[in-house]
Parts: sequence; C-alpha cells; structure tokens
Amino acid sequence: MSPKLIRDLEEKYPSLKIPCLETDNGWYNLIDMLLAEVTNTNNQLEKYKIRCSITQIKEKFGGLRFYVVNNWVEKTMDGDLLIEDQDKAADLIDKLYEFIERIEDTSRELCEICGITGEILRSETQLKTLCKNCRGMKFQYN
Ligand SMILES: [Zn+2]
Repeated sequence: MSPKLIRDLEEKYPSLKIPCLETDNGWYNLIDMLLAEVTNTNNQLEKYKIRCSITQIKEKFGGLRFYVVNNWVEKTMDGDLLIEDQDKAADLIDKLYEFIERIEDTSRELCEICGITGEILRSETQLKTLCKNCRGMKFQYN
C-alpha cells in the first residue's frame, strides 16, 4: 500500500499498532473498516482489560487476510473476570472475527489494485483478484 494511505490509517487509528500493509491500494476501504471495527471492539473490551491486536495484514490466494490475536485466555486464566464478563468479552471477540471473515470474503470480489469489482485470476505463480482494467497492466493471467 502507498505510504500516504498507510499514514492516513495510522493517523485515523492512533490506538492501534498497524502491521506492515502487504497489499495494494484497492483494499484500502476494507482495511479501514476492519481497523474501525477492531478499535470499536477494543473500546468495548477495555472494561474487561482485554485487547485485540493485529498481527498481520496481507494478501493470500487472491484474498485479504487480517490476523488478530487477543488476551482473553490469559485474562480468563487470571481469574479476575466474572464468568458472565468472560462470556460478554467472548461474544464481542466472536463478533469481531465474524466481521473479519465477511470482509475477507468481500475482498475476493474487489480488485486489489483499484478497488472496483474484480475476480480471482490465476497466473503461473499466484492468485490475484483484479478487475478488467488492471488485469493486463501488471500480470499475465489465463
Ligand atoms: Zn482494478
């Protein structure tokens, strides 16, 4: 992703440590939505001292992959959390993971380079989601 777009995201989400963005610009909006959702989830988890961190954002098999870890198990093992709070925190984390899955699914229909509707294409060495315009520019696909 371009340095300018990365800077924009870092400024928009100062509470998150954003890992190296190994994707093209086309998925900017998807990544923006994911960072907003992680921030929102973390705000709700704060009272349980639980936090989600993003470990990796990349393209794999033509789709966006957004990896998040959390310290729910650690906090639960500490014994500081009431059972009902553990459940509430787990629900929030589950919802975040479902959201991530939906966005990852969406990415397989959006051009990684420009963000308009695309489809997964196969070259000799990789899969990539591209629109008709971007298709011929960088890659030779069947
Ligand atoms: Zn495109």
